[in-house]
Amino acid sequence: AKREGGGRIRLFRPEMGERVLARQRDKADLRTAVTDGHLVLHYQPIVDLATSAATGAEALVRWQRPGHGLLGPGEFIGLAEETGLIVPLGNKVLAGACEQAMRWREQGRALSVTVNVSTRQLSAPAFLPSLDRVLKTTNLPPERLTIEVTESVWADGAAMRGLMEVRETGVRVALDDFGTGYSSLSYLQRYPFDVVKIDKSFTGALADTGRTAGVVRCIIDLAEVLGAHTVAEGIETQAQADWLRNAGCAYAQGYLFGRPDLPENWDAQPSVIR
Ligand code: C2E
Ligand code: CA
Ligand code: CA
Ligand code: CA
Repeated sequence: AKREGGGRIRLFRPEMGERVLARQRDKADLRTAVTDGHLVLHYQPIVDLATSAATGAEALVRWQRPGHGLLGPGEFIGLAEETGLIVPLGNKVLAGACEQAMRWREQGRALSVTVNVSTRQLSAPAFLPSLDRVLKTTNLPPERLTIEVTESVWADGAAMRGLMEVRETGVRVALDDFGTGYSSLSYLQRYPFDVVKIDKSFTGALADTGRTAGVVRCIIDLAEVLGAHTVAEGIETQAQADWLRNAGCAYAQGYLFGRPDLPENWDAQPSVIR
């Protein structure tokens, strides 16, 4: 404790107190964002590497925060997970993405939609019922929806059981950022996945060493053995796309094909989730 000019006792350094206050403010603002429709979904095309045509789109959440601009998920998903706000936030994202997929359908575009679901969200008992509800209200065929989880799901029994129940409804399941977390061949062969996503750290290093190319080839072969298809992330150059196609990777996403963007740049629909 430090005695100040005014005689007040400070138990924390001022910066610490400010940090606690800022966190409380962030949390309150994020809660408001979820309820008041300040979350925005951008969509990035997922293309068939054989034709470069989009077959689907990944929904990536942003926060239109008054006075702060458009924030990327790296700036608030951590806080959402710590505070439990990830559950209502995730439900908004899920509903918004399914509605968007239906709008595309109505416009004659057969795009499936892909949503990131955090392990914490998946382990909540309400996840499956809310997923069912969204599919019912939007009327989206379940096989048009893919949920993406990371390997951290394997460390959480409840989340893993939830995931397998999700898969039984016909919704597809993708393993995101494959090879960067707790990859385990034992889990991989025990639990079925429909899609394996090759992380952009591999794609970015393809040209650097033969080792990376060898590892990526193995991931593609492994996925095939397991009956999953592969989506490579972070494709920025035609050389990467060509290499991956030749190596047998079926799908890809990355700036080469399209940046995450508002759906009004895909169609003329409003993008704010309400
Ligand atoms: P992710 O699922 O691995 O998403 C891919 C990230 O790579 C996105 O970043 C995307 O903008 C970026 N990206 C796409 N193509 C390229 C490329 O060619 N080059 C490079 N350098 N980057 C590319 P973003 O949108 O900032 O999202 C970051 C992460 O936030 C996502 O990583 C995902 O884990 C998480 N996230 C996004 N939306 C949600 C959500 O609704 N719920 C949850 N739980 N997590 C989300
Ligand atoms: Ca993802
Ligand atoms: Ca990813
Ligand atoms: Ca990633």
